[in-house]
Amino acid sequence: MSFQMTEEQKMATDSLRKFLDKEIEPEFIAHGEGRIYKEQMTKWSKRLASFGLVNAPIPEEFGGMGMDWVTHLRLWEEVAVTSLDIAAPLLINVAGADLLVQNAPKHIQDKYLSGLLNGEMFIGVGISEPDVGSDVAAVKTQAIRDGDDWVINGEKTWISNGEYMDLFVCTCKTGDGELTHIAIDGNHPGLEVRHIPKMALNGQSTSQIFLTDVRVPVADTVGKIGKALMNTLVIFERARCHMAAWGYSLGRRALEESIKYSQDRTQHGKPIAGHQLIADKIATMATEIDAARLLTLHAADMIDKGIRCDKEASMAKWYGTEIGVSATRQAVQLHGGNGVSKEFIVERLAREAMIGPIPDGTTEIQKLLISRILTGVQAFR
Ligand SMILES: Cc1cc2nc3c(=O)[nH]c(=O)nc-3n(C[C@H](O)[C@H](O)[C@H](O)COP(=O)(O)OP(=O)(O)OC[C@H]3O[C@@H](n4cnc5c(N)ncnc54)[C@H](O)[C@@H]3O)c2cc1C
Repeated sequence: MSFQMTEEQKMATDSLRKFLDKEIEPEFIAHGEGRIYKEQMTKWSKRLASFGLVNAPIPEEFGGMGMDWVTHLRLWEEVAVTSLDIAAPLLINVAGADLLVQNAPKHIQDKYLSGLLNGEMFIGVGISEPDVGSDVAAVKTQAIRDGDDWVINGEKTWISNGEYMDLFVCTCKTGDGELTHIAIDGNHPGLEVRHIPKMALNGQSTSQIFLTDVRVPVADTVGKIGKALMNTLVIFERARCHMAAWGYSLGRRALEESIKYSQDRTQHGKPIAGHQLIADKIATMATEIDAARLLTLHAADMIDKGIRCDKEASMAKWYGTEIGVSATRQAVQLHGGNGVSKEFIVERLAREAMIGPIPDGTTEIQKLLISRILTGVQAFR
């Protein structure tokens, strides 16, 4: 794989960049950091879907573009550089569409896939619960078989896209040590959804979901009964590449802002870029961001070649998201007092970056996974 962008990738990212700078960024800045409701999010996601943001990596026979993951990540990075509030729901839609393509019965694919791919619909994928975080196998939300139906009761939390999801793929306990994915229509009356306010990214919906006597046909099972964890493993490889891009994209924006600021801001008789300790910050941020992107594109390239990349995706996820935290923190410092002012974007970037090391396996969990692959010895328990 060449790490240089191809001519096609360059044309695609350039035209998306122009569109984001001209159309989306001004609208997002005008909207501010408040909650983004479904109507507005749909307007943005439909326009971005036309650039292939959701359908690009989905195979053509399912209505996608069959584009490689490397190119998809290059495109998604551009959106994340503009607004993670807008990029994050797209990330969930890609992961969810992927899960449907690989495992869902045809009637579920027919009902939801095209809406997801053209930006009109949203999906939520739920594993986490109040008592279930890193230990995903401990899911308690229970689906009990009643004739041809499942009846589901329980509580999920931290569900991205929760408030505007048209489809919820819920991980349920269906037996002893047996977890199963079940598709639930987002408008099912047995679902109650509550927004969780966060330190940042409050536009993007993250929700608690209460499930009370949710009755759905057994035919709506996604994948085989008892195979939810196995289905999730492949999805995790891709989701972790997205999360890595979350980190280095915020880092990239922080670096771009820092370069401009350090050229313009004068102290002690010269632009602060001319002070060696500031030069060190710029060089460190740039190098670490590039390293994070290279790790991520390496994992994505393996996905494109059909090679499992659990280790590489875990390396990319922890490094990329942690680099997001350190680069945005350095950007705040480089901006001095202005770094904590709402007038300057780096303050928001630093708060958004803090979230990255948590979802899709925390930094600690990624390190445990990498070490287990390398040594064959698990250190989880
Ligand atoms: C913005 C956001 C969006 C999310 N979206 C979704 C979603 O769409 N769907 C979904 O299902 N979930 C989602 N999550 C939940 C996310 O996956 C969990 O928060 C994450 O897996 C960590 O679980 P936890 O928060 O319960 O932390 P815990 O598992 O309780 O961990 C707490 C701390 O202990 C550490 N820890 C845990 N176990 C070990 C161990 N064995 N060794 C060392 N350290 C350990 C962790 O690294 C962490 O630092 C989202 C979370 C956030 C913040």
